[in-house]
Amino acid sequence: MNAKTAATAASLASDAPTLLVKVFGKDRPGLTTELFTALAEFGVDVVDFEQVVIRGRIVLCALVTAPPRDGELRANVHQWAESRHLQAEVISGLGDNRPRGEGRSHVTILGNPLPASALAALTARITESGGNIDRVFRLAKYPVTAVELAVSGVATEELRAALAPEAAAQQVDVAVVASGLQRKAKRLVVMDVDSTLIQDEVIELFAAHAGCEEKVAEVTAAAMRGELDFAESLRARVALLEGLDASVVDKVRSEVRLTPGARTLIRTLKRLGYQVAIVSGGFTQVTDDLAERLGLDFAAANTLEVADGRFTGRVVGDIVDRAGKATMLRRFAAEAGVPLEQTVAIGDGANDLDMLNTAGLGVAFNAKPVVREAAHTAVNVPFLDTVLYLLGISREEAEEAEAEAEREEQAERRQ
Ligand SMILES: [Mg+2]
Repeated sequence: MNAKTAATAASLASDAPTLLVKVFGKDRPGLTTELFTALAEFGVDVVDFEQVVIRGRIVLCALVTAPPRDGELRANVHQWAESRHLQAEVISGLGDNRPRGEGRSHVTILGNPLPASALAALTARITESGGNIDRVFRLAKYPVTAVELAVSGVATEELRAALAPEAAAQQVDVAVVASGLQRKAKRLVVMDVDSTLIQDEVIELFAAHAGCEEKVAEVTAAAMRGELDFAESLRARVALLEGLDASVVDKVRSEVRLTPGARTLIRTLKRLGYQVAIVSGGFTQVTDDLAERLGLDFAAANTLEVADGRFTGRVVGDIVDRAGKATMLRRFAAEAGVPLEQTVAIGDGANDLDMLNTAGLGVAFNAKPVVREAAHTAVNVPFLDTVLYLLGISREEAEEAEAEAEREEQAERRQ
């Protein structure tokens, strides 16, 4: 910015005459240059400039200071637009855009598909809550349609409360994040493991090898009915593994299936400077291996006790339960030097609830209704990388991170 434009931007009076130049039509290379070349002849300064291209059609809006020869500028713009088969409008007015309201949030809406009726309902809630949509940007078209709305004029919490029930009613996923926090690089993402990072429940994989799958399932069901708390139910299930040969760990590690999108999520977050952790009510025998394979920064879980090469049916030390998961989130955040409000937690189970509520953004991932309703936001499509969109990271950014990671892996293999 040169001295003259800096002075203009700083001193643009609210009653200074400005012109809004709007151009719409078939996009082709060089249109933006041509328009600004035409405007430059009149010595005007740019106050604002936005353009968007959808399916080959361009909408370009430029707000410029009004020159003394206003009429001549209009004539030139129209003449140029006509020669390019574009529609143009030049609207006189005063000053800049009105300032954005207090309270700024980013709202991500994702659906598979994303019906117009859902957008009608959600945008109506935004308006009712006093919010204004200032800008819209598509984050992804695959495997879900994700759009991000910059909203001002309403507090983030209030907007979240207004949109959450509507999102559930419309069966789309919505995340509301305070704008300032949204794109800060220094963040921490903490994930649950069973049925979140992976598709399996690790205790069930062990139980299958011990031939006690049904009994373990019975205890799990009792815990889900609220008859046992998590620590009790874990002890009861682990007791059933007593005597199982500990070499089964290798088999279980190879049986674990990552959730679709897990690798993309982690690679992209790492590329963007995030720290990534897992916290599990499952077992370090499996989670440590996952953490190493995926290059994670922190991991915490319970440890199955082993004596003479066999499981004793006990867990070593304190149990990582519902409260323990939240404690681990706090500990990892402190170690990573990330304030809690910049942490993100992802989980599916009731024992994730404290962790989800402790984090700056708690994401219920394909969770039971009780978890979904208590979390800040929910993802109900079976792809873990959709969490990226809730953080305002686009599909393109994720694909770039993937390509970069693959190039590095290939280079490593060649060495
Ligand atoms: Mg889980």
